[in-house]
Amino acid sequence: MPQDKIYKTVHQYNKVPIPVENMRKLQEIARDYSCVKNYVYQRYGGVGGLTKIYPGYTVQNEMTRSGIRTQLGLPSVYFNLAVFEALGDIKAQWTNIKISILEAASQNERFSSQEKHYLRFMVKTGGCFEHILNGKKIVVPEKMEEAYHRIMVDINGSSVCAENLNRYLCRQVRKKIQRIQTDKAHGFSLTERAYRYGTCGDEHGIFLSTKESRKRIFVPLTDSNEYDKQLYIRLKPEDYGIEIAVPIGQKVRIHKDYANETGISLGMRHMITTDTGNIYGECFGQFQQELVEYLAASDKTYRKEKKNNAGRKKYKAHKAKLDARLVTYANQEINRMIAGEKPKVIYLPKYPQGNIKGYDKKINYSVNLWKKGFVKDRIKQKCRENSIEYVEVTGKAISTECSRCGAQGKYKKEVFLCERCGYEDDKKINAAKNAKKRGRPEQQDKHIVH
Ligand SMILES: [Zn+2]
Repeated sequence: MPQDKIYKTVHQYNKVPIPVENMRKLQEIARDYSCVKNYVYQRYGGVGGLTKIYPGYTVQNEMTRSGIRTQLGLPSVYFNLAVFEALGDIKAQWTNIKISILEAASQNERFSSQEKHYLRFMVKTGGCFEHILNGKKIVVPEKMEEAYHRIMVDINGSSVCAENLNRYLCRQVRKKIQRIQTDKAHGFSLTERAYRYGTCGDEHGIFLSTKESRKRIFVPLTDSNEYDKQLYIRLKPEDYGIEIAVPIGQKVRIHKDYANETGISLGMRHMITTDTGNIYGECFGQFQQELVEYLAASDKTYRKEKKNNAGRKKYKAHKAKLDARLVTYANQEINRMIAGEKPKVIYLPKYPQGNIKGYDKKINYSVNLWKKGFVKDRIKQKCRENSIEYVEVTGKAISTECSRCGAQGKYKKEVFLCERCGYEDDKKINAAKNAKKRGRPEQQDKHIVH
């Protein structure tokens, strides 16, 4: 079913290397940020924290009073967000624990339906679960009192008493609860109160709050987009860079005239081949080859002159340029494919992970994986944006199977040949036809990958 809105993450990047001194300031924030989070996990992540985390004011207030913020000298915009995020993680863990307890209880044949009912009530009703776990008296909300009374009457007639069921809950929690901790200080979130987009000199960029009051760091960005969302900043000190992640809500487009079923096959040389023989991303292989050659050539140079920092920066800048060209090109061609094919559903093969047999061995392994995962993710995302169904089918033997008669054929270079029925076609077109065949509803039981 198409939703009206989907969320995706867009990224922004620094335009020029970030001075070491500024990077250090950002790293300080990241360190403090994870320190605050760990403090919250430790103090409120356990059973004892349960009575305080809903809705969470208590934790915010206690944390503010704890003095840890002043100790660290972390601005409250960062501090509050770190507390809020950690609290979210703790709540998420409890949600999962509750779901898994209810699942375990409902599958447990030892329990009668009254007992299961009791457990469900205790897990779901505020004032029950946390008090049972903390060995306190249950406080049932007024509007639930009647239901509670009925359940207690029911349970008194059963073999297992309430005490035992409560102990069961405690045991389950002990088994499932995990200590949350973050060792990573790679970045931090920030709200609009901690940043501002703007210009400095001729450069457009972002101003970020630091621990020094009223002193913001300016980071020039590669684009001039401005957002008013909560951002996440990932630090890449080894590259003197940052990556800003912005969650964007976007309306889904619905195309009433998109009615085709399109099988596609991804490739190294031509990015996308469809079952009807259309090719998108014809220059993909060539662009990629240029990137790989550049990487290989620079790698040699680097082994010779390890301490050449200026050269290293130049290399990173050029690599980023080639990367960006490939990304832009891939996006453009995927858009062109969608507009051209007008599909209501796209079928494409799932390749076994780590298996790149049949791909060009000359091309660097990691680049290869990057490419395949990347193109697929982009197609998936574009399908979501355009309310096109995206279906992955098993990729096993998809290039050697004849799409006309189903026999095993052979291919020589780019041409597939079936000896049984005489079918001959471009290897990729044959594979795309197979993808469509495998994905169509009557075949689904056999080949759809979940
Ligand atoms: Zn055949």
